[in-house]
Amino acid sequence: MGSLYTKLKVFHYQHKLDSLPVEVDDIAPPVHIRIKPTNVCNHRCRYCAYRAADLQLGKDMVDKDFIPREKMLEIIDDLEQMGVQAVTFSGGGEPFCYPYLAETVRKLAGTAIRFAALTNGALLEGEPAEIFAERATWLRVSMDGWDDESYARYRGVKVGEFSRVLRNMEDFKRLGGGCFLGVSLIVDEENWSEIFNFTRRLKEVGVDSVKISPCVVSNDGAKNNRYHQPFFDRAKELARLAVSELADEGFEIFDAYHSLAETFVKEYRWCPYLQILPIIGADMNVYSCQDKAYNLDEGLLGSIEQQRFRDFWYGGKEKFFRIDPAVHCNHHCVANEKNRLVLDYLAADAEHLGFV
Ligand code: SF4
Repeated sequence: MGSLYTKLKVFHYQHKLDSLPVEVDDIAPPVHIRIKPTNVCNHRCRYCAYRAADLQLGKDMVDKDFIPREKMLEIIDDLEQMGVQAVTFSGGGEPFCYPYLAETVRKLAGTAIRFAALTNGALLEGEPAEIFAERATWLRVSMDGWDDESYARYRGVKVGEFSRVLRNMEDFKRLGGGCFLGVSLIVDEENWSEIFNFTRRLKEVGVDSVKISPCVVSNDGAKNNRYHQPFFDRAKELARLAVSELADEGFEIFDAYHSLAETFVKEYRWCPYLQILPIIGADMNVYSCQDKAYNLDEGLLGSIEQQRFRDFWYGGKEKFFRIDPAVHCNHHCVANEKNRLVLDYLAADAEHLGFV
């Protein structure tokens, strides 16, 4: 298997890269879209970034919003016609709570678009699970609690939900198919000491990979680091141990447990990635990125409630340049490093390109 997490994937889309700058007339379709089909969720995670008061993400989210069935089918038609490469379903809410998920992914499975989902795994059953197992590229289950009691505390669910999620993942792998099943392990002050044991348990369950990441508790990088500092070294040691003792050909561990940049200040004035990987929210708004979803003041590109996505996308380029990262994005940004790479690529002097 090739590298799953490289930041250079977008460099395989030369036309897209060349279309990005404001002075180029061309508008190319997004490469990848995240769709938040519903804001309804069956869990109440205590650290949920969409509900945390200290994070701008999710500021204007309405919990009961979901994309109507007809609109979702229209969106999928547009994405296919536009040549979008990949769709990831994520929250807002829990994608498997979306009543039309099976129909949506069945339709997607009939196109060339690859698809994936982030989920809590509790409803990974029945037809949606079967279609994902058979046709999706990957599925990632987010986890934190390491047994029934701790999981119930983290997520405001009844004791037994943890066992159900593990069982669902085991059953999912038994379905066969080519879907890569990962777990995202969100590390905080309560579960850091379980990193190794929990990762071993997940390996026994049969998942293909575990990504170990820090819980983001604030827009402020220094505040995040202060939160993780008391246990950071010991948690990191356990993550390293997990990699050295548990990872093998059939079980991948991605250690993404790291401190965050002290400040989230950005010096660049336009964002390439919002044209590469935008978000369609359950409110039928299009947002710039995962980090600004449901932020109507700073993250909104426009609405597709009264127009088709493709008409919105191709209807003028100005909307892609209203967000000035140096002004509006001084918070965590998952695309920051990738933005820098793209901007660096685009800044190359044409006269000197040959001198590689
Ligand atoms: S710079 Fe980052 S946070 Fe700002 S719009 Fe782009 S991807 Fe989003």
